[in-house]
Amino acid sequence: MIPELKFSKAPASAAIAKVYGDLASLKASSLPVDWIKVMEHHGYPEGEWIQVALAPGAAWLYIARPPATRYGVDGEYRALEEFRKAGHRLERLCKGHKIKTLQTEFHPSQGKGHEALLEGLLLSSYRFDRYLKSSNKAAAGKASSDKESKRLSVHPVNLGKDALLELAELCRAVIKARDLVNEPQSVLGAVELAKAFKAMGKESGFKVNVWNQARIQQEGMGGILAVNRGSVRPPTFTIMEYKPANAVNKKPIVLVGKGVVYDTGGLSLKPTPGSMDSMKCDMAGAAAVGATMQAIAKNSLPVYVIALVPATDNRPGGDAYAPGDIIRISDGTTVEVLNTDAEGRLILADALHYAKRYKPELVVDLATLTGSAVMALSSHATPCMGTADRNQMQAMVDAGFRCYERLVPMPIWEEYDDMIKTSVADLKNIGGREAGAITAAKFLEHFTDYPWLHLDIAGPAFLDAESTYRGKHGTGHGVRLLYAYLRHRVMSSKAPAQAATSRTSSKFNKKSQ
Ligand SMILES: [Zn+2]
Repeated sequence: MIPELKFSKAPASAAIAKVYGDLASLKASSLPVDWIKVMEHHGYPEGEWIQVALAPGAAWLYIARPPATRYGVDGEYRALEEFRKAGHRLERLCKGHKIKTLQTEFHPSQGKGHEALLEGLLLSSYRFDRYLKSSNKAAAGKASSDKESKRLSVHPVNLGKDALLELAELCRAVIKARDLVNEPQSVLGAVELAKAFKAMGKESGFKVNVWNQARIQQEGMGGILAVNRGSVRPPTFTIMEYKPANAVNKKPIVLVGKGVVYDTGGLSLKPTPGSMDSMKCDMAGAAAVGATMQAIAKNSLPVYVIALVPATDNRPGGDAYAPGDIIRISDGTTVEVLNTDAEGRLILADALHYAKRYKPELVVDLATLTGSAVMALSSHATPCMGTADRNQMQAMVDAGFRCYERLVPMPIWEEYDDMIKTSVADLKNIGGREAGAITAAKFLEHFTDYPWLHLDIAGPAFLDAESTYRGKHGTGHGVRLLYAYLRHRVMSSKAPAQAATSRTSSKFNKKSQ
């Protein structure tokens, strides 16, 4: 259960976590003498929580590490990331000590750092535990109020309420994306995923339109239909729209998320360990764009956004599409299928073609697309490619640094075109051993005629082992990135006076959809 942020004064019994910008500011503050003695005993370590009191409430002190600059351009963002990680460790301390109420303070007051600490703490509270016996018992009976009473309350000192409410909604959206990714395919197929988007739209205030198989056939979406042929469950195509009256953009920003709810590889079957066993995550792009819609609607961000999700599972069933098949995408392009495990690009092709009708300002697709992306950058970064101009690309890269969902631009030069050519169709669906993330992007580019960015999130979307506040398994990767991009898009287009940050005044105003 996500901790609750409170704006009242913390009770005297609350545990306390105090962060100091450096040793000098700690020494300048009037802390109890015995607390200072404990710190002295430990040698005033930087970047560590030191417990200085047990009673009446626990107290921890933390001295920030000076930001490392040796990594070049992202040096300035690493200080905030340190605080997110400190937030993760603080969450574990609170859990270990069964803390129910916590007060957080920054000395000197530092809004961004404090928010980052809380972001790390909130995101670290996530557990995918609904299938555990203990959790089921709790849900079944009176114990659900027990669970509520175990929830941590956090009282941040000197932080604006609006920023915190916005942060809490964003974290809830990330957690929603994690839940969708972690849900097994037996529970969450294409139909169920679309239903989940419907429910999110109803709850948060954005429109959701779901196409069934017949409608997908009518539209001639041959990529989605081909991948779905081996499945006994129908595909879906979901169109989400958030269009507030006060949107800063006339042409929409379109988000496209790969929704392969389960990927066996099809007839080009994947091996199980370290491969098929985690393939419920192959809809992480879809989860990220749906959850981003939730975050912007909940926070009434004045930006016009469409999200498209083509969804199906990929299976080697009786009528499964096969290597050697030639299929036709909705724009008329023919594709020779040489590997049925390169299915993501086929369903994305139909969605990217569909996006043309919006004459969009920018299209961003998120997809767990290639092993090649993981080989290049592991789970720490996402290759970013596309036809968007330098400013749009840079704005997305900067957003990545701010939230630490980092992007690395890769080329889609025309010299790569030859790698997806074939003599029997317009394109083939795989390149070769080399530059696999790039040839996948080259394939997608064929279906775009607008500024476009492709983010291959195969590395960071799903983690086999816990990694600080990103957790284990579904990370919800992409939600914070897209939100950071869209929020910046809003703020940079408003005059400073209008770009208020008060929920009660003009901030994002009221949506009128
Ligand atoms: Zn695949």
